[in-house]
Amino acid sequence: QLPCTVREFSEAAGVPASQVLRILMEEGVMATMNALIDDDLTELIAAELGVNLELKEAVSVEDELLASIRDRQDDEADLVSRPPVITFLGHVDHGKTSLLDRIIDIDVVSGESGGITQHIRAYTIEKDGRRISFVDTPGHEAFTEMRARGANVTDIAVLVVAADDGVMPQTEEAISHAQAAEVPIVVALNKTDLPGVDLNRAMQGLSTNGLLPSEWGGDVEVVKTSAITGDGLDELLDTVLTVAELHEYKANPNRQAMGTCLEAQQEPGRGVVAKIIVQNGTLRVGDVIVCGQSYGRVKAMYDTLLPNQRYEEAGPSTPVNVTGFDTAPGAGEHFYVLDDIADARTIAESRSDSHRKTALSGGVQHVTLETLFDR
Ligand code: GDP
Ligand code: MG
Repeated sequence: QLPCTVREFSEAAGVPASQVLRILMEEGVMATMNALIDDDLTELIAAELGVNLELKEAVSVEDELLASIRDRQDDEADLVSRPPVITFLGHVDHGKTSLLDRIIDIDVVSGESGGITQHIRAYTIEKDGRRISFVDTPGHEAFTEMRARGANVTDIAVLVVAADDGVMPQTEEAISHAQAAEVPIVVALNKTDLPGVDLNRAMQGLSTNGLLPSEWGGDVEVVKTSAITGDGLDELLDTVLTVAELHEYKANPNRQAMGTCLEAQQEPGRGVVAKIIVQNGTLRVGDVIVCGQSYGRVKAMYDTLLPNQRYEEAGPSTPVNVTGFDTAPGAGEHFYVLDDIADARTIAESRSDSHRKTALSGGVQHVTLETLFDR
């Protein structure tokens, strides 16, 4: 239930706004036509006026328009297997970005300021004809924030643990995040190239945190890796693919696309560039798309690694950079493809309206780790 304005109240109750304003004034509230009145005040005025007011949940246009798209179940027969989406989690400096760099054969780490990952990266690679998508986040915050928005883009978490450091506080946090998200965990025991590292100590740390390595009789695959020498990376990818096979991730490429925005920004000369990941359906150039308070028509799609490589379409589990949004959607916002640009505009505008109202009334709810996990 969003707070309503004086005008909206008077229209709904069928009384002149001046009367509403007078009652408010008697209560010591100086208000204007567009002032927001909260639930308590609304009830008070209704009582004064003797009107029977039913406080309803604000029916959002978006819910009506999107429900049919969002909730449409795919027929079993339409489902085909899709690549798994992998997220690297772990303590800072344990090698998440280096491992991904090595896997896709580029060097981002040495260009990072202070060695801290600034942007979300997302790529799809092919291993022996099978595709895997990777998402590298600046920290757990991005992962948690996306989950807080109901965006579970990750199928499998690769927990990166540096062999010299072992399990650290952020490793433990990462474990609980992955467990809360109910995604399987594969451990990359990294930096095994360093001389004199005590692998058993790191394995012990994992065990005491509920991740018993399979070589110790548990059910967690621990792969020994080095992002420097490349050792263990093949095995890591194979392990991830094996876990993916067990889970049989599926999607229906023959429906309008839906997915999640990973990040977006305004770029000079290009307009809004949004990094998105398609989670179901197929996204095509020209599609009408709505994402949070943003909407538009997909103008072009680009490879996330090769900036000049354009695509006409992107299927399930594929990250792409998309242009065509009017404004930059927020990270973690879901996107949907619609038939009608007018509908997309209505949804986006109604969302920014209610967003503005909520912000004005100071009712913005912040999701914290506590509210997220203590449900
Ligand atoms: P992130 O914070 O988890 O993304 O960690 P980075 O990938 O930025 O790596 C942190 C530092 O550890 C960098 O200086 C890397 O060169 C180094 N590093 C990463 N992986 C390895 C590895 O397997 N062996 C060694 N010796 N150093 C590594
Ligand atoms: Mg990093």
